[in-house]
Amino acid sequence: MSAEITIHSSFTGGNIEITGTSGDDIFLRNQIRDTMEDWFYWAFCVEGAQGRTLTFHFDKKWIGYYGPAVSHDLNRWHWLGSADSSSASDSFSYTFAPEESRVYFAHDMLYHPARFEAFCKEMGLRTEILCLSRGKRPVPFLSFGEGAETILLTARHHACEATGNYVLEGVVEELLERRLPGFRVVAVPFVDYDGVVCGDQGKSRAPWDHNRDYDSSKEALYPTVGAIRAISRREKIRYAFDFHSPWHVGGENDRVFIPLKHSASQEQDARFSEIFEKSMTPEALPYHAADNIPPGWKWNLAETACFGNYMYHTAGAELAFTLETPYFRAAGKAFGQGEAVETGRCFARALRRYHGL
Ligand SMILES: [Zn+2]
Repeated sequence: MSAEITIHSSFTGGNIEITGTSGDDIFLRNQIRDTMEDWFYWAFCVEGAQGRTLTFHFDKKWIGYYGPAVSHDLNRWHWLGSADSSSASDSFSYTFAPEESRVYFAHDMLYHPARFEAFCKEMGLRTEILCLSRGKRPVPFLSFGEGAETILLTARHHACEATGNYVLEGVVEELLERRLPGFRVVAVPFVDYDGVVCGDQGKSRAPWDHNRDYDSSKEALYPTVGAIRAISRREKIRYAFDFHSPWHVGGENDRVFIPLKHSASQEQDARFSEIFEKSMTPEALPYHAADNIPPGWKWNLAETACFGNYMYHTAGAELAFTLETPYFRAAGKAFGQGEAVETGRCFARALRRYHGL
């Protein structure tokens, strides 16, 4: 590698460590930071490699079915493409065109606060400050509509899980265009805001992560979660949805699904899931109610402290759960930014129907 090439993580969401170089081969690994188990998120930038072909080698198969997500502006992303999309891999090669002076590569199609701000501006909305994060950063939130009841939307309780933001954007867009009468909508798109900015994994963060900060017998550790809990005390939350991404690849992680928690709301959950399945359009990432995961299944601990359980048991919401949207493909359809936003629109249409409109 020549001296003028720079590989770095100095941007929103950056996460990489260079472990070695040999000619045009670069050896990398992702930074786990304070996550208490192995995880897969990474994102880096290459500058000054115009006209060169470099091969990037990871220590683990942390590259998805279609190779890395590639961007020139951290906003629009496409898959590099992979000759074999049947499995994850640990390396990829990239030929930098003569004009490609700066290229971003990431595990998945990142969604940054700048995109959410631009979206709100386009919609004629302005975000406000929810609170200061532990890192003293102002955390944005959005609210619109008037009413006695509230729809609460959240994403990035786990910092690296960007797919949920695309879905949340689609939900907001649809609810703006066709309001639910009598409802205020509150959206907190980046719950672990520091983690999103710093490029942390965020999942299983020590001593516990943001989605485990909902033990109602304790004060919240994270100011954002404290502020969300305060909203749920002030307002009458009827619907509360938390948008996540699952694990890296394989099995249920290649499908859109709801990990069902409390069995108390079994009937409502089943009715919503059925309507959601029927509301899917061909442009969305497919969702099948049969892919939902029952309470207690493998890792899906039913009564653990989390946003969904808190909103259901403590805040008294009628419907409160997590929706998981995969990083790479859902039921065989490749993840795209537009497809994920459309999935959110379908979700909001399903909520309207569930609500009886
Ligand atoms: Zn998650």
